[in-house]
Amino acid sequence: MTKTEDTKVSVLVSLFNWIQKTKPPAKKRSKFRKFLDTYCDSTDYFSAVRLILPSLDRERGSYGLKEHVLATYLVDALGMSKDSQDAIRLKNWRKDGGANNAGNFPVVAAEVLQRRQGMISGGLTIKELNDLLDRLASSENSSNGYGFELLSLGKASVSQAEKISVLSTLIKKTNAQEMKWIIMIILKGADCYLKLGISEKSIFHEFHPDAEDLFNVTCDLKLVCEKLRDRSQRHKRQDIEIGKAVRPQLAMRVGDAHAAWKKLHGKEVVVECKFDGDRIQIHKNGAEVHYFSRFIQRKELTESIKCRNYLDHSEYGPAMSNIIVQNILVDRCILDGEMLVWDTSLNRFAEFGSNQEIDVAFDILYVRDTSIIHQSLKERHELLRKVVRPLEGRLEILLPNGGLNTHRTPGEPCWSLIAHNVDDVEKFFKETIENRDEGIVLKDLGSKWEPSDRSGKWLKLKPEYVRSSSDLDVLIIGGYYGSGRHGGEVAQFLVALAERPAPNAYPRRFISFCRVGTGLSDEELDTVVTKLKPYFSSLILSITSDIRTIRSEVFAAPYSLRFPRIERVRYDKPWHECLDVQSFVELVHSSNGT
Ligand code: ATP
Repeated sequence: MTKTEDTKVSVLVSLFNWIQKTKPPAKKRSKFRKFLDTYCDSTDYFSAVRLILPSLDRERGSYGLKEHVLATYLVDALGMSKDSQDAIRLKNWRKDGGANNAGNFPVVAAEVLQRRQGMISGGLTIKELNDLLDRLASSENSSNGYGFELLSLGKASVSQAEKISVLSTLIKKTNAQEMKWIIMIILKGADCYLKLGISEKSIFHEFHPDAEDLFNVTCDLKLVCEKLRDRSQRHKRQDIEIGKAVRPQLAMRVGDAHAAWKKLHGKEVVVECKFDGDRIQIHKNGAEVHYFSRFIQRKELTESIKCRNYLDHSEYGPAMSNIIVQNILVDRCILDGEMLVWDTSLNRFAEFGSNQEIDVAFDILYVRDTSIIHQSLKERHELLRKVVRPLEGRLEILLPNGGLNTHRTPGEPCWSLIAHNVDDVEKFFKETIENRDEGIVLKDLGSKWEPSDRSGKWLKLKPEYVRSSSDLDVLIIGGYYGSGRHGGEVAQFLVALAERPAPNAYPRRFISFCRVGTGLSDEELDTVVTKLKPYFSSLILSITSDIRTIRSEVFAAPYSLRFPRIERVRYDKPWHECLDVQSFVELVHSSNGT
């Protein structure tokens, strides 16, 4: 057993508590260093570091435990009755069950545990904790690997029982304070909890000056801990490699088109549609293909998801791997892009879970034996054009003058273009929003691709939706056919406000207010359209928008909304409960302070 493994979890927990309480960053860092020097073997930093940066640990699979499941399992592990006060507290951790700590599951759980566990630590070691966490993760893997448990009751309950048994062993060997931190480690995806007040960057830097760089191009914490044992020995900067996930280049958020344009002043800029799928890296190495994707949306972590759908022959056509092998015209290559779903009958992007996967490559990082991330985006675009032969509906490339755009018919909004001025950006943004896309990404065509960088080479612009305190319940009075991927069907609605009726009477006139298309899933949209047909009967929509209203010359109401979005369809509300113009104008004036 290594010295690290023999260290007590209580020592690690004191480190966490100390780092959390201490303000000066330098002190936080030196405490971390002292912990490594005192309690860890240089041959085994990993056993401890994986518990300090749990969201970057790829060696263990997912635990498949979110707060609400953990709550249920803890109730069982503690042998509590399901309707005891504490069990109810745990289940309602988000709201009043959590009382002052509402929303902070580990703290709520620790309060419940405190009454049962007491203060005495059971002496759990780092090795024991890692072994138990391995069991917790592998009981997840005994499900079918698709993230849900096998329907065969026996199998599902074995894995569930195993998890409960691991939790109860953990509870026996720890105190409530320790369990609080262990729960945070288990909820590793939710790093909102592990609030040590020290960034991952600082931890990496304190560990070794080259640690962050190496992690960025390998996404392999174990390798970083093993390779960089000696802080005084510098490691030659490593470039990206085929077969190793690289942390993606990221986009900085900007408020509006003007801010974006100002930020990229003087640069050659491409604006692209921000696709609403999952980031994917495709590594082709001869006949072998690896896919890496961020395993949960919105986490910067990359890890292999061993996309099973790609490996299998799906019912829609040849396996994606065959397509990659045949349509990437070089032997070795890394593509960066977005994985989406393509609706084969409607020829448009669709919701996940249906139809066939499509990869849209918007960048290329490696060709033959060379990393090309240091070349400009413009040069990389050229290589992307040369290296990938697109296959409609399966593998597409995103280029300002070609690729996906070549499938557009005149008049349809395009997916990417070179912007010459801010008006081009505004117009493109408006079109993508109207087309129910997520937003746009602006990229400096002269920039290189940098792992994990969010310094502003890429900017993202998404409409900001502010939920007004009172919902705007408006009446559908017309529909617009969509263009492009929503061609041939109603994709947007003309909605109206009522003229205020006499007391105790129904409104008699409605005046047009705005046009709204975003907010509903394709399926929800279909349901609304079917409900409205055949007579275009009335339905109320609750809509929201960014707070800015605009004075309207197009619609009959004096104001309209900027970037309106459908919150939900009020099937429960009768047409005559539609918001009236006067109330809306009062709302505008009160929110503008006039
Ligand atoms: P968000 O939650 O807004 O998607 P994020 O934090 O996941 O943001 P960002 O770096 O802010 O990631 O935004 C870039 C993400 O947008 C990429 O990871 C990718 O999945 C997605 N994306 C969609 N279309 C594009 C595109 N054309 N170029 C780059 N990224 C794109």
